[in-house]
Amino acid sequence: TPVTIILTVIGVIAIVTLVTVAVLQNKPIQQKYKYGIVLDAGSSHTAVYIYEWPAEKDNNTGRVQQKYSCKVKGKGISSYADEPQKAGESLRECMFEAKKQVPKNRHGETPLYLGATAGMRLLNLDDSSASNKVFQAVEEALQRFPFSFQGARILSGQEEGAFGWVTINYLSDRLKQGLETTGALDLGGASTQISFVSDSYNGLESPKNSVNFRLYGNDYHVYTHSFLCYGKDQALGLALAHQTKSGPRTITDPCFHPGYTQTKNYSILYDSPCVSERKPQEAPLSFTLSGSGNFTKCHEVIKSVFDFTSCNYSRCSFNGVFQPTPQGSFGAFSAYYFVMKFLNLTDTSTSIEVVREKLMEYCATPWTKIVKQHPKVDQKYLSEYCFSGTYILTLLIEGYNFTSETYSKIEFIKKIKGSDAGWTLGYMLNLTNMIPAEAPDSPLLPHA
Ligand code: AMP
Repeated sequence: TPVTIILTVIGVIAIVTLVTVAVLQNKPIQQKYKYGIVLDAGSSHTAVYIYEWPAEKDNNTGRVQQKYSCKVKGKGISSYADEPQKAGESLRECMFEAKKQVPKNRHGETPLYLGATAGMRLLNLDDSSASNKVFQAVEEALQRFPFSFQGARILSGQEEGAFGWVTINYLSDRLKQGLETTGALDLGGASTQISFVSDSYNGLESPKNSVNFRLYGNDYHVYTHSFLCYGKDQALGLALAHQTKSGPRTITDPCFHPGYTQTKNYSILYDSPCVSERKPQEAPLSFTLSGSGNFTKCHEVIKSVFDFTSCNYSRCSFNGVFQPTPQGSFGAFSAYYFVMKFLNLTDTSTSIEVVREKLMEYCATPWTKIVKQHPKVDQKYLSEYCFSGTYILTLLIEGYNFTSETYSKIEFIKKIKGSDAGWTLGYMLNLTNMIPAEAPDSPLLPHA
């Protein structure tokens, strides 16, 4: 009968389904990858990166890649100094996502690191007890996840620079192949790093700027320096402090567009240890900034936050810091990329003169027009691109001594082969001993 036929068909389908499920469950799930998680606790925000690599070939280069990244909502952890608990809570959403991204049976063996950079370096200088409380809160939050938590700490500027250099050279396979390396230029909100190999530098002239690595059988003497307070947000603070020395109620700021105005609080501006000692004694509560959009004058203001006079070495970048002449190709990432990408200035075959002309025109554009042209861009970022572009050019040319020729060897980059350029990958490769030296058991620690 039709009923018997239908019942038989249903029975057969049920049996096939049950057998399939049983077979699938018995079959070991193929887990081909291992994972590592690094949290980059920057001054303006925190990002979570998950890396993966083939389980059986941990030591092969070019094989670790970024699987996933998550931008934590809200500000950097250093901004939670008054409410440390919230620093921990802020990480939870991205960490729940991370839990989903890593297969469950790998959770326990997946190392989890948090590295904080210049935002926390500044908070630690300003109020070390507040900085400790923030670390305690983020550690407690991270320990609740099923990963193998390896601790949260502040990276030294030297480590930040050196690991950024390792990351970009690892991702471009230069280390394993023993090719000429690429220098690394990293611009954060609170600090900026420059790292490169120079023929004329053996590490002796200024040992504190030297990091030695032995990787895949090659020795590298990397010059590195991190300038605290010269990230783009703190540099803007330095420039504003320079213009408000006498405690005025209004300033005309050439680094902002004509027609742009903003009221700033003296206490907030001078809160940062980068400028706190220069707070004018008799300042009102706030000052109003009116943009005049003048690149040439903005360039002058920015130059005044650098000291080009003192140098006790054969050559210096600025503020009396030793630096060999930039040599070879460079990758410039983080805020270098964000700013130059927005300004359409990532093509470095454009001469420096043309870059200047473009900035001149951009800075002089009225604020209302800029807003109309970019209705979707966050106005805080939008208002600052004239300053940031001028700052980047000044830092590279006058600060680091790039010339027309060497400027053209800079590439503004965000990712290499799908992985973000930044210190996090280099940091993890080092701590997990994943780049073989000749003694692969010893982690590569930059020596002071
Ligand atoms: P940090 O948080 O220290 O890593 O610094 C990142 C810097 O990049 C901060 O100065 C941010 O304001 C800046 N930044 C992030 N995204 C953008 C963007 N889309 N445009 C301009 N600047 C950005």
